Amino acid sequence: MRKIFLRDPSEKISWVACSHFFAAHLLPLAAIFTGVKISDFILCLVLYFMRMFFITAGYHRYFAHRSYQLNRVIQFIMAFGGGTSAQKGALWWAAHHRHHHRYSDTQEDIHSPKKGFWWSHMGWIVCSKYDETRYDLIPDFAKYPELRWLNKYHLVPPTLLAIAVLFWGGGSALWIGFFLSTVLLWHGTFVINSLAHVFGRRRFVTTDTSRNSFLLSMITLGEGWHNNHHHFQAAARQGFYWWEMDISFYILKLLKWMKLAKNLKKVPSGALKRNLIKDGNFDVGMMVQEARKKWIKPFQKFQLPLNSFPVKSRNLGVPKSQ
Ligand SMILES: [Zn+2]
Ligand SMILES: [Zn+2]
Repeated sequence: MRKIFLRDPSEKISWVACSHFFAAHLLPLAAIFTGVKISDFILCLVLYFMRMFFITAGYHRYFAHRSYQLNRVIQFIMAFGGGTSAQKGALWWAAHHRHHHRYSDTQEDIHSPKKGFWWSHMGWIVCSKYDETRYDLIPDFAKYPELRWLNKYHLVPPTLLAIAVLFWGGGSALWIGFFLSTVLLWHGTFVINSLAHVFGRRRFVTTDTSRNSFLLSMITLGEGWHNNHHHFQAAARQGFYWWEMDISFYILKLLKWMKLAKNLKKVPSGALKRNLIKDGNFDVGMMVQEARKKWIKPFQKFQLPLNSFPVKSRNLGVPKSQ
């Protein structure tokens, strides 16, 4: 996606402060010195999908959207499990995500791909401006001291997991089972902020550029149905139909059957029929693409700054069916 919004000068990548993030990408290469076993790759896969579940079902659907209920012990386990993915604490993650939904694809959105693809993918993560937790956006969970503790000491869960992996399988398990799966998990999560707003199909008219993608759903256990999710955020499921695979939701159904989770919020039948693009509704996502072709591109010839012609993505769509 072409960059449409210019970033604020304060949105700078702090290369020194984030050197550990880039260094972590190189750590799996240390397996050259230890050799690798097939069990290291199996562990890599297991830890990827286990922790992806904690991120999608826990950090995203539970902490950010409250789409179902848990008791306090399971809530802590969800926050701890998500914490092992080294994506900071549940409060930091969920508060930033709530901000994303409030300002999706506007100038205010911290990680809109309209500020640049790589910025939306990981630039904003390595920008120290967004290091702090916006407790004001998540008072409902910030009231729990154990969650605040986990949020403050967010390196404790991944460190404990890394130590456990080292004792279990030795050095090669650490480099492949822990570090390679952690790096893959980072990018598997980040694609929802970047690719899921660029790549895929739109079913619903929304005021953002969110899209649905089977491929992204496979690697994120169901988060790739992102246009569905932006259309109806409160639901515990993001694949709205049986053919839209949503593994996180199937596991949540299992947890419900085991009486570990309850009150999974459903998608009302009215929401499935509302604001469908095929009804001929005016679609802001499409409008943005058109505007880019018709307005932004021709003016680039004259090398004017892109934000001289801002494309407002809010308050433009008046769905017919409402
Ligand atoms: Zn969301
Ligand atoms: Zn989004």
